Amino acid sequence: MLSITIKYLTGNAGYMLLKNCRYILTQDKGRRIFENRDVQTEGNTIAKIAKGISAQRGEEIIDCTRKIVMPGLVNTHTHLGMHSLRGKSDDKELFEWLKELEGEERETGAKKVRENTIAGMREAVRFGTTTIYDSYKYPQERAEEFEKGKVRAVVSSTVYDEKTLQHSKAFLNGLNGKIVRGAIAANSVYNCDEKILQQVADYSNEKGILRRIHVGETRKERFEILKKSGKLAIEYLESAGFLGENCLLVHCIWITKGEIAKIAMHKAKVSHNPVSNMKLASGGVMPLPEMHAQKVVVGLGTDSVASNNNLDMFEEMKMCALLHRHHKWDPAILGSQQVLDMATINGAKCLGIEGIGSIEEGKKADIIALNMDENLLPVNDLVSNIVFAAQGLNVNDVVIDGKQALKDREFI
Ligand SMILES: [Zn+2]
Repeated sequence: MLSITIKYLTGNAGYMLLKNCRYILTQDKGRRIFENRDVQTEGNTIAKIAKGISAQRGEEIIDCTRKIVMPGLVNTHTHLGMHSLRGKSDDKELFEWLKELEGEERETGAKKVRENTIAGMREAVRFGTTTIYDSYKYPQERAEEFEKGKVRAVVSSTVYDEKTLQHSKAFLNGLNGKIVRGAIAANSVYNCDEKILQQVADYSNEKGILRRIHVGETRKERFEILKKSGKLAIEYLESAGFLGENCLLVHCIWITKGEIAKIAMHKAKVSHNPVSNMKLASGGVMPLPEMHAQKVVVGLGTDSVASNNNLDMFEEMKMCALLHRHHKWDPAILGSQQVLDMATINGAKCLGIEGIGSIEEGKKADIIALNMDENLLPVNDLVSNIVFAAQGLNVNDVVIDGKQALKDREFI
């Protein structure tokens, strides 16, 4: 079994110093970019950003002279438990694909899910992701692996019916995570009835935790829910009391402008998974510019490696920008800053986690540093370089919660 070999450096007393950062892409309110400054962390927090901070406390020092320092990326939707299914059933549409994978997944027991979670976690961190929303079976085992790996995560198990709801509640009631939070996840509008959706929403409101659902992934689903309930998918969720600030809607391709208005009114959040959607040929294009126009907060997700087939959020950013520009015949429809926001600060908002998604004093020390030398020069537009030129393999160092997990491209 692949063991958890992510070890961490923190220096003496948990201080780190990212020295001479060539660029710091803060993602703060003003989206400021600093040049040639240092970042000092203390415990799990960013303590100071300034020029010429001297190391006096036995800090672990990361030389960032030729690096871009930025917030760790936030993946708002994946299923790491499916990691061993990469490359299985690559040419099927969603429902056929689900059916084909079902058999394989039935064989996937707790031990395999643990191994897959570790493998997925390592891949995601290697590519610069520091926060992962992860849903699958065996939530307890997965939560344990995230805690052991010290990777920030939101963990849920999937609810279809009363039995799986109770199972999920038992997990959440017992969860006492340091870096792991729980969420409750209804599978979809086509296999959860209104009563289950209401119960999921009630539990999420009672506990103040995130609730999540897959919705509007295929055109077929849209017609099925209309036939079953006389409502569009988002209307159906609204009538079940499912929409709300703590609600994360995943995919949202096949929805109307009227439904977007409801999402905006309830302040629900959306996870956009462009690569998975294109690979499964979901048709249509998620109405992202329309969502932005109505001020809906949208984050990015890779979905699982069975439908992506990797966990590289840099690739996800580029694909997102290309998809919408191409679709609307308008290269200005989605700027690189908007895309970067989706992978950082807006992803954090989607998951309801305060204190991550930007590099600011007082925020959590979830930081990545990218080597600039191979393919990120010249810097005519730093944000454009990150969205259109960077790849996960440019990530040189990763710090999660004030601890260095990746150093010079290697796990410590
Ligand atoms: Zn999913």
